[in-house]
Amino acid sequence: RGEEAVSAQQAEKSSMPRRYQLFIGGQWVDAESGKTFNSINPATGEVLAEVAEADKADIDKAVEAARRAFEGRWSKVSARDRGRLLYKLAQLIDARAKELAALETADNGKPIRESLYVDLPEVVEHFEYFAGMATKIEGETIPVPGRLFNYTVREPVGVCGAIIPWNYPLVMAAWKLAPALAAGNTVVLKPAEQTPVTALELGRLIQEAGFPDGVVNIVPGFGETAGAALASHPGIDKIAFTGSTEVGKKIARAAAENLTKVSLELGGKSPNIIFADADLEQAVNGALMGIFFNQGQVCTAGSRIFVDERIKDDFLAQFRERAERIRLGDPMDKQTQMGPQVSEEQLKKVKYYVHLAHEEGATLVTGGEQPQLEGALARGYFFRPTIFADVKNEMRVAQEEIFGPVAAVITFKDEEELIEQANRTIYGLSAGVWTRDIVRAHRLAREIRAGVVWINTYNIFNAASPFGGYKQSGYGREMGKHAIELYTQVKSVWIDLSGRPL
Ligand code: ADP
Repeated sequence: RGEEAVSAQQAEKSSMPRRYQLFIGGQWVDAESGKTFNSINPATGEVLAEVAEADKADIDKAVEAARRAFEGRWSKVSARDRGRLLYKLAQLIDARAKELAALETADNGKPIRESLYVDLPEVVEHFEYFAGMATKIEGETIPVPGRLFNYTVREPVGVCGAIIPWNYPLVMAAWKLAPALAAGNTVVLKPAEQTPVTALELGRLIQEAGFPDGVVNIVPGFGETAGAALASHPGIDKIAFTGSTEVGKKIARAAAENLTKVSLELGGKSPNIIFADADLEQAVNGALMGIFFNQGQVCTAGSRIFVDERIKDDFLAQFRERAERIRLGDPMDKQTQMGPQVSEEQLKKVKYYVHLAHEEGATLVTGGEQPQLEGALARGYFFRPTIFADVKNEMRVAQEEIFGPVAAVITFKDEEELIEQANRTIYGLSAGVWTRDIVRAHRLAREIRAGVVWINTYNIFNAASPFGGYKQSGYGREMGKHAIELYTQVKSVWIDLSGRPL
């Protein structure tokens, strides 16, 4: 499969740059302003695609189209047929997985082995899961007293705005679209300006699957223009956002004006905790996967690695050795384990934090600089896997989300102090715990204030399992049955059964 993906990419290269329009009301259209922007391949700095740039006028059109669809044809589609459409979409994505994975890698820089074997299967799984969910959205009957009958119905919220980030472009689109559509909503999706390509390709498949016009509208553009216009739009009923905590706050403020319902999946600075009794090799694997997977551009990145001071030296020796063996390079090569950061801006941010870590007195164990790569890759936004030791939890490198391959290793002496420090962060998205002691594992799971706790594993997701943050990591739970709560509202209906006058 890997080889075919690479040849799919070679086919891509010959037709670059690609051109995309906006997808509004079932039509492919230019932006009202006629403006376009370029999406860059971060491995080479070359233009991958020229994309129509949505702004307020286009967002208005898309919201109108979504409203018409919501009140019109979509409202008449049965739950079963919504499920069938979602299932059809899953099949179409699966059939085009290699091509989509190659495009994802070209646009985002993530290694092809990840886009093909992690991202695409997760997208397909997500649409399949929510295809099955469409027919299982039910109300309740309430045991009210007297000769009254009270029941609830779960209705769609209406027109949903979705603003997504660039780290998992297609996966994030799936997390928003699948439950929203299963529940009978219509959607205006704004992909991230760094990675609009696969969401637009998904638009083609949505058309092919047979969704009515306007049920899904895809409007790439910049955050401060298109994104802000969508979040503050009085015509939307809900806004779902995944991205930084900083922007999440802006979204919540913009939505507050119209009391638009909001769900936010935001940043993290997750503790990945290694006890002295852990299987060290497994813990090292978990530490690597926690911070270097997807170039560290994961909201759940295990960026604060807490290690029992008794095993610090052993751990650091193994962690360093393995980090230095990570194959960094052309993300289209199926042997590559780490690609470039998504953009020049992100690369600068990573460099800034490396500089800061030095200034704050942390010790560089490995990395801390760009690798020397040849040819076109020399212009890519690559950064070596980086480990800092002697980090204190109070340092900014341990408190601020870097969103890059930079691990901060902090030692601890006892469990109580550890828990206190692990929780001392504005974030609460996830945590990892490595120990052979089952009692301690569950105790930690209880004490850590985070939406997800992984014990002797890390970064595991499933469409059926709820995901979301505590504290400033956001609110609302995506995936599983919980996602349906985000995309439905409850109506309570009372009927008098007595037939007597009041
Ligand atoms: P990152 O900092 O990782 O790029 P952001 O949180 O800035 O992540 O971006 C996530 C998404 O939010 C992107 O689609 C981006 O365009 C959008 N966005 C950024 N700023 C705003 C804003 N002020 N209003 C609405 N959306 C925004």
